[in-house]
Amino acid sequence: MSLIKKRIMAPGPTEVPPTVLAAAGQPILHHRTPQYRAIFAEVCEKIKVVFQTKQTVLTLAAGGTGGMEALLTNLSEPGETVIVVSGGVFGERWAKIAEALGRKVAKIDVEWGKAVDPAQVEAALKANPEAVLVLGTLSETSTGVEHPIEAIAKVVAGSKACFGVDAISGLGACKLLMDEWKIDAVVAGTQKGLMMPPGLALIALSDKGWAKANSIKSGRFYWNLPTALKSMTAEKLPDTTYTPNVSLVMQLRESLNLIHAEGMEAIWQRHQLLAKAAREGAKALGLKLLAPDSPSCAVTAVWSPEGVEGTAVVKKLRDEWGISIVGGQGKLKTSIFRIGHLGYADRADVLMTLAALEVVLTQLGVKVPRGEGVKAAQGVFLEAAK
Ligand code: PMP
Repeated sequence: MSLIKKRIMAPGPTEVPPTVLAAAGQPILHHRTPQYRAIFAEVCEKIKVVFQTKQTVLTLAAGGTGGMEALLTNLSEPGETVIVVSGGVFGERWAKIAEALGRKVAKIDVEWGKAVDPAQVEAALKANPEAVLVLGTLSETSTGVEHPIEAIAKVVAGSKACFGVDAISGLGACKLLMDEWKIDAVVAGTQKGLMMPPGLALIALSDKGWAKANSIKSGRFYWNLPTALKSMTAEKLPDTTYTPNVSLVMQLRESLNLIHAEGMEAIWQRHQLLAKAAREGAKALGLKLLAPDSPSCAVTAVWSPEGVEGTAVVKKLRDEWGISIVGGQGKLKTSIFRIGHLGYADRADVLMTLAALEVVLTQLGVKVPRGEGVKAAQGVFLEAAK
């Protein structure tokens, strides 16, 4: 058996730094002890910087989708109208959860690979003045699109509706200023920009969001956010109503230490740089980007070349190079592949992925100008270092 290192270049789960991995090996602390609660208090304070909020960030023992459901159950009632920006699998997920929970869904259908125009949100609010919630996605992982969250937030802030953002793959990679942009709810997961294993959902609400959450009458128990907030604030040290994911919280303390050491501005810049290098590298190989006009800085989606299924590229990179990128989702399942460059990712990761991609595409019969992808990415890095 040959020794092939495993490397993740997927838009989540992402690689986990050694100190964060090691933190999982610590003995379990009982969650009601002052020792654990002191660690949790540190996490609760440090996570606010990532959300760019003064609000309490709640930690839920759930994957990202659980956080999305929690947001919906706390910011809307059954029968109420929810406006959903849908331009990919994860926008579509908002609609599916909302429908499953008996909300009326007014969907803004956006072409996959394009960002929503804030004017479309304005029109949807006009057509549905009774809407209580608008739902969007910061980084639409399935298409590699970054939506104009700040501009949408401005539109929604002028209405009675709250604005909820799925920042599951975007937070800690793409710029998001929750308080300054007046976003009412942000949900994130740990397995992306936060450089952690999957398993925690994080959610924060604005004052407008909390007012709505406090008025909800129906259908919540585990996802009762006002109850969770009470546990957080009842005593000097924060607490959770139910048993938390103790090991993940200890790991989160480590990842937040790394995030604080780098600083949010530097983190956003690093992700922009890696994304630009990935895009320029792909283009130099003659590949077409799915989202050239509004690309995400967390993930780059590329059309698979004529006659080659994206899944074949993914398989060869994984089996022969140990590099895990991902194929498409939903209707783009075989026609694209996606390279993640978020969280614990650096310039060498992008260069390595492009270099291996050149070999794999060549072997699959694609005429790629070998060396040009790496060269273009090097150019981006050289320019940035000036
Ligand atoms: N939203 C986005 C934008 C995502 O990228 C993902 C995960 N790929 C989810 C939601 C769902 O998160 P989870 O798989 O942790 O439930």
